[in-house]
Amino acid sequence: MREDLEQIKKRISLLDYLRQRNWTARRVSAREEFVGLCPLHADNRPSFYVNPRKNVFYCHGCGRGGDLIRFVELAECLSFQQTIAHLQRGFAVAHDSELLDKTADFFQTQLHRHPEAAAYLQQRGLFDAGLIEQLQIGYAPGGNLRAHLRGLGYSFELLLGAGLISDQGRDAFCRRLIFPFRQQGRVINLYGRSIGAAFPHRLLPRSKGGLFAWESVRVFSTVILVEGLLDLAVLWQAGLRNVTSAIGTHLTSDQLSQLCDQPGRCVYIAFDNDANDAGQRASRLLRATLQRTGLDARILTLPPGHDPNSYFVSGATASDFLALVRQAQ
Ligand SMILES: [Zn+2]
Repeated sequence: MREDLEQIKKRISLLDYLRQRNWTARRVSAREEFVGLCPLHADNRPSFYVNPRKNVFYCHGCGRGGDLIRFVELAECLSFQQTIAHLQRGFAVAHDSELLDKTADFFQTQLHRHPEAAAYLQQRGLFDAGLIEQLQIGYAPGGNLRAHLRGLGYSFELLLGAGLISDQGRDAFCRRLIFPFRQQGRVINLYGRSIGAAFPHRLLPRSKGGLFAWESVRVFSTVILVEGLLDLAVLWQAGLRNVTSAIGTHLTSDQLSQLCDQPGRCVYIAFDNDANDAGQRASRLLRATLQRTGLDARILTLPPGHDPNSYFVSGATASDFLALVRQAQ
């Protein structure tokens, strides 16, 4: 708690906090201070001073002063504990994306240090080092992320809030290949593919955002939609860069509108051809939805029991896959 308090005071500037709440101020000449109307009392002559170096305020009108926490207590009429919680929430949102960036970087450094990760990539037919780097694929061995992030100054609560660790403090991702989702350059979620017996798919408890890598795929007038990121990776590796994924067969309304952002686009649905017919049923539903919006949507049928990844692993080539694209209906 003590440590979190210091971290909040150090990392949130009082001046930034006030400015985000539309406090306007002018610099007091020759002094390292800013002055403006007091947000804490009805002020008509600027009497509220902020010293950004010391991160404190003082009002000559109402005589109140203190640090960021004191200001929030007074301005929001919160107790000390409520203020800490309020600031932690704000702090968490602002630093969340930075935290995911740091996490993705760390997992990327782990990929080549664990032979089981390399063996799994090979088993799933991924060998292009440039592509692995481009997709920023990483590996979570489990058991070392928490210590690494704590060392960078992130609190236990922040890691817990982000879903990176469990209540017991264990890493949420363990023995998983990690694919970061990026939007506007920032990591917004992480997908972990189990390399062992655990449930195969895991995302952090937050929005998965838009379609995977949509910023580069959206330029294509023909788009191939696959279920998983290992499917996407082998197709990109085979030179088909117009492939995207919604991670699963269900598209959010945002993802649907992305597919529809170019009139006349042709969408090939290449979901898993599994024995229980789930992939095919989802494909037919999605095709109907896309066709209703005026898109040319077709279903690509893989050999029974295959997904695009296993199809390539079994020896298929880009031209075999393109033959299936031509037969899609
Ligand atoms: Zn005042």
